[in-house]
Amino acid sequence: MIRIRQLKLKIDHTEEDLEKKIQHTLHLKPGQCVSYIIRKQSLDARKKPDLFYTYTVDVEVSREASILQKNKNKDICKAEWKEYSYPQEGTEPLIHRPVVIGCGPAGMFCTYMLAELGYRPILLERGADVDNRCQDVEHFWKTGELDTRSNVQFGEGGAGTFSDGKLNTLVKDPMGRNHKVLEIFVANGASEEILYRNKPHIGTDVLAKVVKNMRKKILANGGNVHFYSQVTDFTFENGKITGLTVTDTRDRKEYRLDAETIVLAIGHSARDTFQVLNDKQVPMEAKAFAVGIRMEHPQEMIDLAQYGQKRENHLPAADYKLTAQLESGRSGYTFCMCPGGYVVNASSEKEMLAVNGMSYHDRSGENANSAVIITVRPEDFPGEDVLAGVEFQRNLEHRAYEAAGGKIPVQQFADFCKNETSTAFGEVKPQMRGLYELANVRNIFPEFISHDLEETIHKFDCKIPGYARKDAIVSGVESRTSSPVRILRDQSLQSEIRGLYPCGEGAGYAGGITSAAMDGIKVAEKIVQKYHPFDRQQ
Ligand code: FAD
Repeated sequence: MIRIRQLKLKIDHTEEDLEKKIQHTLHLKPGQCVSYIIRKQSLDARKKPDLFYTYTVDVEVSREASILQKNKNKDICKAEWKEYSYPQEGTEPLIHRPVVIGCGPAGMFCTYMLAELGYRPILLERGADVDNRCQDVEHFWKTGELDTRSNVQFGEGGAGTFSDGKLNTLVKDPMGRNHKVLEIFVANGASEEILYRNKPHIGTDVLAKVVKNMRKKILANGGNVHFYSQVTDFTFENGKITGLTVTDTRDRKEYRLDAETIVLAIGHSARDTFQVLNDKQVPMEAKAFAVGIRMEHPQEMIDLAQYGQKRENHLPAADYKLTAQLESGRSGYTFCMCPGGYVVNASSEKEMLAVNGMSYHDRSGENANSAVIITVRPEDFPGEDVLAGVEFQRNLEHRAYEAAGGKIPVQQFADFCKNETSTAFGEVKPQMRGLYELANVRNIFPEFISHDLEETIHKFDCKIPGYARKDAIVSGVESRTSSPVRILRDQSLQSEIRGLYPCGEGAGYAGGITSAAMDGIKVAEKIVQKYHPFDRQQ
């Protein structure tokens, strides 16, 4: 195949326009049939308001060599595509079925791969299946009654289920795992567009269907998935994992499961499980993460800034990604920006309050929201304990809970700067899932954080005019940006406790849906390379 890069087309172009452009670029005869695969599509807004889509395509043609010879050009070359290749099976026999803890992207993709390759994994998830979970979360958002077993952090699909479903990642992976993750999403109900869009996005409504389909495939391939099954203890012998205790979160009944291979894909919110692991002296360390607020602006304002014009029908709701270097030496940045989205109450513990952002597939909400966050390091935490970062998060979340009596505290940005409780909204109205109330969000933070957040937002105003507008909505606290700990692992991806595989975001090896899923695949590969498939033994 021949690869063509930098094919520019107007934003309202048709499929036929793209085909013609390919024929013209390769000097093919008019009408000569072209078959092609889009590898990448990105929106070029550098010369706004003139907007273009830029494509990279791989084209199937006869007489490829002579066409390449005729079209010597830096943007035309022989196409190279690295397909993901499955790992070679290992030789060691498995005595017990591999166990994966956590049905977030890391655990789900790890289980999916192991099941596909015949290892009959058992997936344990403390929260509910996605249908029950959606009801639990809706109930919480409407009434404020939190179910600590099943919520925005815990349950089928993990933290990513109620999300914007952005699938881009900065992780470079020459093995093709990134594309493999997207292919698995498509095979389970996501749109094919995610395979080539520069910034692929699914949306919470589609994600819920996809994770359910993935579960069905795991079951069809001989795996098991148990919900309401919280791992509450681990047993080790001679430096090796030998099993775990599972507690049914509905009736608190316990049972033991023997296993010599356990994947720990517990996410960044499993604070009680971090405590158990720390008590058991599983090697882990405190790590830096970031905290801050969520900021809402009218989507129209963001569209205008990014596109230089009002958004037309064929354009997606505009996004942004901003960073600022601060006088304090820290950096401030945006995180998990949700175009046309909603701010959600993403709490998982009683008397604590954490926010995050989500959107539906069509991103048609009135506001754009994004976290604006500042890095905090272990020296900012209270004490030197490995779990001091968890304590730091809990303190902020408790203050956020108290700030508005358990509702999401919201404030106009002008009042955040004045350190005053807001008494009304301006033109921007909160778009939220969860009860909210006017309060003083600034008060949640120690002054060094509030000060840096204010400076960050003013700096962003130079990049997106209106970012620091008086009536922009600030809410808090955005505290679950990444894991406060790293659970150490070596090159075999095992902990010093052999057979224990720390995986995904909670263990400190991923940040976001796609990178967590890629890490899940990476861990599955290590297990496959070591062991025989389970069902072909004896
Ligand atoms: P998790 O998804 O956190 O999954 C861990 C799972 O383990 C959970 O289901 C939990 O219930 C389970 N578990 C924990 N402890 C136990 C135990 N002891 N026993 C049994 N089960 C246990 N990322 C993006 O890339 N794009 C986005 O648009 C995006 N939006 C987000 C929006 C929201 C509201 C939230 C909360 C997060 C968002 N993220 C987004 C972040 C993303 O969801 C995470 O990076 C990702 O889910 C991490 O995957 P994981 O599998 O490592 O952990």
